[in-house]
Amino acid sequence: MRIIRSLGQMQSAALRARRAGKTIGFVPTMGALHDGHASLIRAARRDTDVVVVSIFVNPLQFGPREDYRRYPRTFQRDVAVAKRAGCDVLFAPTAAAMYPKNSRTVVVVTGLSEQLEGASRPGHFRGVATVVAKLFHLVQPTAAYVGQKDYQQSCLIRRMVDDLDVPVRVNVLPTVRERDGLAMSSRNAYLTPQQRREAPVLARALRAAARNIRRGERRASTVRAGIARALACAPHARVDRIDIVDAATLEPVARLRGRVALLAAIRLGGTRLIDNVLVAVP
Ligand code: AMP
Repeated sequence: MRIIRSLGQMQSAALRARRAGKTIGFVPTMGALHDGHASLIRAARRDTDVVVVSIFVNPLQFGPREDYRRYPRTFQRDVAVAKRAGCDVLFAPTAAAMYPKNSRTVVVVTGLSEQLEGASRPGHFRGVATVVAKLFHLVQPTAAYVGQKDYQQSCLIRRMVDDLDVPVRVNVLPTVRERDGLAMSSRNAYLTPQQRREAPVLARALRAAARNIRRGERRASTVRAGIARALACAPHARVDRIDIVDAATLEPVARLRGRVALLAAIRLGGTRLIDNVLVAVP
């Protein structure tokens, strides 16, 4: 596995591979790799000739009071995880190289950047869209692999790719979970043992809501109240958001029909956790 830090070297390596007729599978990450990331890398390995994984803690997607400085950085471990999962090129640029002082351009996916998670984290999704657009230009992927764990992000990337005619196929893969249901996340490392014991409440609340819908519940307000009640079982969890939206448009819905996404975010101490489930309403 080759490690590339320079933007120029990454782009030339990618162009060389594409000119040689090879397909490139790309997995963008912020590092602190876990099995969720590994599942994306393995999928890229299955589908494409050259697998590129980026590790870049993107300052542009963190708010001023968020965890950019303390975000877990575990590069040596990440090298081993990426290699084992089938990565060929690990691209780890510096923030200074990605955002030179004179850079001015940002990418905003209007109507998808500012709502839901974007309302709780102003500026977050413009940071995501901008870095993903830049990475696509540097890595020249045939296909990109992202997680359903960050559902709004996956929709935003698909929208951007469509709107800007980026020749990349975006594959969204299922959320990989711990045995107790907690969605794997680099931020789980922040949790104290007590918080870790409470964290599965998020997945449990969403799963119960999905069951309730399959059994016939059609009012979003009732489903939302059920999620809030289930989350209240964890004494230290504070609810940050509960959103019930159309899975395709991400518009809030009142009556459930078609495919819906149940999205929730909680705080346990200083740690913010998100999760979601998709439900095909019978
Ligand atoms: P991150 O490093 O958190 O920016 O995530 C990089 C990619 O991995 C994103 O596409 C995430 O959606 C995906 N991802 C993160 N956690 C999981 C998980 N538990 N299961 C599947 N994909 C995940």
